[in-house]
Amino acid sequence: MKSEKLFNESQNFLPGGVSSPVRAFQPYPFFAKKGEGSRLWDVDGNEYLDYCLGYGPLILGHSPEKIINAVYSQMQKGTTYGVPTKKEIDLARMVVDKVPCADMVRFVNSGTEATMSAIRLARGFTGKNKIVKFEGSYHGAHDYVLVKSGSGAACLPDSPGVPEDTTKNTLSAPFNNEEYVSELIASNGSDIAAIIMEPVMANIGCIEPRKGYLKFLREITAENDILLIFDEVITGFRLSEGGAQEYYGINPDLVTMGKIIGGGFPMGAFAGSREIMEFISPCGSVYQAGTFNGNPISITAGLNTLKELDSTFYRDLNSKGKYLRDGIQGILEDNNLDFSLVGLGSMFQIYFNSKRVYDYQDAKNSDIEKFRVYFNNLLSNGVFIPPSQFECCFLSQAHQKEDLDETLEKIEFALKTVAD
Ligand code: PMP
Repeated sequence: MKSEKLFNESQNFLPGGVSSPVRAFQPYPFFAKKGEGSRLWDVDGNEYLDYCLGYGPLILGHSPEKIINAVYSQMQKGTTYGVPTKKEIDLARMVVDKVPCADMVRFVNSGTEATMSAIRLARGFTGKNKIVKFEGSYHGAHDYVLVKSGSGAACLPDSPGVPEDTTKNTLSAPFNNEEYVSELIASNGSDIAAIIMEPVMANIGCIEPRKGYLKFLREITAENDILLIFDEVITGFRLSEGGAQEYYGINPDLVTMGKIIGGGFPMGAFAGSREIMEFISPCGSVYQAGTFNGNPISITAGLNTLKELDSTFYRDLNSKGKYLRDGIQGILEDNNLDFSLVGLGSMFQIYFNSKRVYDYQDAKNSDIEKFRVYFNNLLSNGVFIPPSQFECCFLSQAHQKEDLDETLEKIEFALKTVAD
């Protein structure tokens, strides 16, 4: 097997054989050769229907012709300039038109940079230090948010190398729990700069906010001069043109974006009202900078991707999501399997858990071993989903009804194997 050989070789040069940890699934990850539409091929010639989709960016599927042609034509004119381009204005205007809370945008290179910068901006704008995040949410790999909840609400570093001094200003709360947040604000409110959240928690599977929860957070933050930051690195341009904030009808103060906005190339962004965004350098004094910020390749890919995303696009994409989820639900019922199907729009996951999942603790009660069997069975039958119970699966425009029917057959087989 070429993938196995490459994995053995890569471990000599790349820690763990990979460039990002989740990719090192056992016994070895397949090495990609090519992606086209809804499918991926590996170096051994195996073909996979892809529901990982690069962990979310590829909403049009792999290598869409329009994007590739636009990027190719941009590449012939240069790949980075160190001065602004008109395309940055075009993409920023498009984001402002689509995303309800956005008046102004700063382009960065990843979701991690977007949340790190948005948190700094919130602290600079409010003059306060603490932030609140939710247990099980992921906001990238930087020090402010790489935490696990400690005793009480204060957080401990989740990794060696993160000083406790950094995380002592990060508080955590269980998701979907109003009382906990009210108490946290009552005892720390005067020093909380921001609550940062994934409106749909997509890094612990897929957990939707309970009805009224986002409204509650919007109100309590506004009453206490705390900024509400929606981390829409996954949900942005995924759930609707305006992301989760449009989907649920709740506007945050700041939004962070990544994945889809770069059209398959590295990019992140954060946005908010003019009043807040003008605190960013060089307009204001909160520092933020980057050599590749707004680079013309990612901007071109993002611009041409976002142009495709209108209400008809989401109607079609989300109806495919519903078709797949309805199919899976039918399989679960027909086979008397009490696993929990979750998801919305073009997102889905199955928790190997008979109870409904509302927060991190519920999600953690899922049966990881069952998930592993399910994942491996799908993979060996040509369906690639993210290799963790705590990731979310995605659909793209390129997935056709025949792809979904084929997937449902394979999911049924995998679920029956798990149950045996
Ligand atoms: N926020 C969320 C909600 C994410 O899902 C991710 C990545 N999966 C990030 C931030 C970090 O983005 P990146 O990997 O581009 O740094």
